[in-house]
Amino acid sequence: MVSHEDLSLINSDNFEADGLTAHQLFGSGDGLTYNDFLVLPGYIDFSADQVRITTQLTKGIQLNTPLVSSPMDTVTESDMAIAMALCGGIGIIHHNCTAEFQSQEVVKVKKYKHGFIRDPVCLTPTHLVRDVLKASPEFRLQIRENWGGKLLGIVTSRDIDFKMKEIMDEPLEGLMTNFADLTTAYDGISLEDAVKVMEKTKKGKLPIIDKEGHLISLISRTDIKKQRDYPLASKDANDQLLVGAAIGTRDHDKERLARLAEAGVDVVVLDSSQGNSIYQINMIQFIKKTYPQIQVIAGNVVSQKQAQNLIKAGADALRVGMGSGSICITQEVMACGRPQATAVYKVSNYARKFNVPTIADGGITSVGHILKALALGASGCMMGSMLAGTTEAPGEYYYSNGVRVKKYRGMGSIDAMESKDGEGSRQRYFQSDNENVRVAQGVSGAIVDKGSIHRFVPYLVNGIRYGCQDMGVRSLEQLKEQMYTGVLKFEKRTASAQIEGGVHGLYSFEKKLF
Ligand code: GDP
Ligand code: 5GP
Repeated sequence: MVSHEDLSLINSDNFEADGLTAHQLFGSGDGLTYNDFLVLPGYIDFSADQVRITTQLTKGIQLNTPLVSSPMDTVTESDMAIAMALCGGIGIIHHNCTAEFQSQEVVKVKKYKHGFIRDPVCLTPTHLVRDVLKASPEFRLQIRENWGGKLLGIVTSRDIDFKMKEIMDEPLEGLMTNFADLTTAYDGISLEDAVKVMEKTKKGKLPIIDKEGHLISLISRTDIKKQRDYPLASKDANDQLLVGAAIGTRDHDKERLARLAEAGVDVVVLDSSQGNSIYQINMIQFIKKTYPQIQVIAGNVVSQKQAQNLIKAGADALRVGMGSGSICITQEVMACGRPQATAVYKVSNYARKFNVPTIADGGITSVGHILKALALGASGCMMGSMLAGTTEAPGEYYYSNGVRVKKYRGMGSIDAMESKDGEGSRQRYFQSDNENVRVAQGVSGAIVDKGSIHRFVPYLVNGIRYGCQDMGVRSLEQLKEQMYTGVLKFEKRTASAQIEGGVHGLYSFEKKLF
């Protein structure tokens, strides 16, 4: 039994100072990295699955998880962006490629798993089976219409699968299910009602037509099934996955932007290693005026002064980090940059006054780092090396000393800047296209096979939830609120504390994370 006196002492909250507030931790003038401090645990009266990790990516976009894949040519193309969006995050398609390729990648994400496929592939009755395979190799699905636009019939995999070789040169006319036999629905039907129709007819596709019989869109059962499996998926009002794309700030980037806008991009990232420039300010203003529906993430910045200009110009979010990336040699070469924990805290603490979310970019190598970035005020975490090496990252696996790896390279590496379509990365580091001597700000390397994003991201999501539970916060908003009000406490880690905090004293061990 606790005595009466002890009880009143306990209730008085009479501790000596224990731990530092974020303000104290970053008030010393030292630049800190994620490894230089820890968060002190809080009080748990809820389960981890009750933790809400919804967050604002930008002023106008909310995500169910704070995870963003970096616009790098060894990290994010459409496969990665689709997987990230399905798992509740978002992918930013890189721009080390032609504007045409990049906007096509955006289209692939936007077309994926819609409730309604807006532009189904169409051929005419005189086209041959081999044309179907060319036009739609993945789906082998054809809606046929004459050039006037009226739906005449449908050919799906079941119509051609078994006898494919023999019928390669047959016209579709004889193979299709004719319009008269099709179940269709009129434009304006809700997804829910359309699903009911499909349940009844037991067909895999439901063409949507207008009163004149023109094909407007298509619903596919496989898409609807997929939708059920991803409750966290990041979607727009039209049920399409959210996607971002990186662009530069030169005049011709406006053409790239026009294509991306047409492709339906939701957010653009102005990709620069040092974002506080007249070019970026002009570009933000241009985008906000010309494409008000597109959100703009500006950056990169690491100081409040840099942030001020971009916020003033109208940025919808800021990307924070300079020189902290795993492949990055900026701090070594340019003498500029900032340790990432300090950069995230300082910029976030300023940007929040204007309700501008921040995205911690670079230097994240574990779930713990994601949690620390969030605890310092970031709303999103952008990752390169964490997500490179997954099945969905561009590039093929290969073996290096018996280990299965995938290439991962800095966008400022010589390798990336000199690649055929490397204009995007040259711009990021302010290098002109015909420079004789390049100054590299990154390296090229390899990352061990990490399996699929569909397993890796759920591991990160659960990790974030358990971490929040340990800190005693039920949501990312509460995490921030406790940090800013000084309830959340931190502590610096000495070099020996860091050794103690890692695995130590074992002869050998296997580190299996999930
Ligand atoms: P899957 O891609 O092979 O799963 O194809 P579906 O389940 O969509 O279609 C199976 C068969 O039904 C094919 O012969 C299609 O041409 C045909 N079909 C597709 N939709 C309809 C429809 O609405 N009505 C009718 N009668 N046939 C359809
Ligand atoms: P990571 O998650 O691998 O630690 O860092 C990824 C981030 O590093 C990217 O999102 C980008 O901001 C930055 N980055 C990518 N390539 C380079 C590079 O070549 N040099 C520098 N300085 N930063 C890079």
